[in-house]
Amino acid sequence: MPQISKIEVFKFNVPLQAPVTIAIGTIEEARNILVKIHTTDGLYGTGEGAPFWMIVGETQATCYAAAHDLARLLIGRNPLDIEGCIAAMDKYLAANPTIKSAFDMALYDLAAKYANLPLYQFLGGQNRRIVTDETIYISTPEVMAADALKIKARGAEAIKVKLGTNATDDIRRIAAIREAIGQEIPIRTDANQGWDYVSAVKVLNTIADWNVEYCEQPVKHWDYANLARVRQYARVPVCADESLFSPQDAVKLVREQAVDYFNIKLSKSGGLRHARAINGIAEAAGVRCMIGCMSESRLGISANAHFASAFLNVAFYDLDSPFEHAQDPVVGGIRYQNHYEVIIPDTPGHGAEVDEAFLKTCEGFVIQ
Ligand code: MG
Repeated sequence: MPQISKIEVFKFNVPLQAPVTIAIGTIEEARNILVKIHTTDGLYGTGEGAPFWMIVGETQATCYAAAHDLARLLIGRNPLDIEGCIAAMDKYLAANPTIKSAFDMALYDLAAKYANLPLYQFLGGQNRRIVTDETIYISTPEVMAADALKIKARGAEAIKVKLGTNATDDIRRIAAIREAIGQEIPIRTDANQGWDYVSAVKVLNTIADWNVEYCEQPVKHWDYANLARVRQYARVPVCADESLFSPQDAVKLVREQAVDYFNIKLSKSGGLRHARAINGIAEAAGVRCMIGCMSESRLGISANAHFASAFLNVAFYDLDSPFEHAQDPVVGGIRYQNHYEVIIPDTPGHGAEVDEAFLKTCEGFVIQ
């Protein structure tokens, strides 16, 4: 039986080209966390967590501190017993999905390497065509319209637009974008909890005829009742993001018929194990899923892409965080073709590694 012999944890900082702003705050740098799990057979798996503190309540510092304990908990265990490893982490530490997702991703990478299969195949699926959208962050209507023109010129099949400051400005933003790029490219909107029920219905019913595919998280994450009301009265489908972390949240959202779609992100769900459960609940309830990202490098995005490719119920792809990065510290893994097609490698595991020279510059610790 293989055993986990050594775990390395690194503060994995990726500089951004420019700060990115959404309704609930601004991110200056991707302060992520990297976990490498080694076994007695000489194999290892790598996982990345991207703590988006305004959403998940974790920071790089809390991830780093929790990782000490989680690493000690997993040393000596059978890494192929993913269920047992995840159950041990969930029992030991409540919540904290982002740091758990880094361990989970490393375990899945490792298990797929043991099976000598690319991760999508290890999960039971195939290598599908995945095309990501590109996100426009909050700014003036003029700047956002100019961004949309650039994205259209690059050949995007869908554009995601961050909204959620106030109804008047948000309507102006979408009007300016539509005036600039026409109606053909679908727009996915995301209010990041920035509206109340009244503003949500006002904005969404104004922009409903402008080829808007759906709206993520119109109201506060805890406000399932108003989420359901927006779904009922707005003429744009509603997608849960910040309201959906765990499989238990998925059950509640389905029971309350609160949304049309789920946005799954590994950094919210605690990784692939629970993301797979969420997708199963969604599929059984007739809810299609999108796969989203926080600020992962191409390593975390690679695991996300394998997950999206494996499961047919995952129908929308928002895997664009590396576009915002000023540096790409990852070798192997997914690559972007014609800017938006996500090409998934057929090498065992998720196929991504962090560049050794970059990793040497990262603060870290080892538990063995
Ligand atoms: Mg969102």
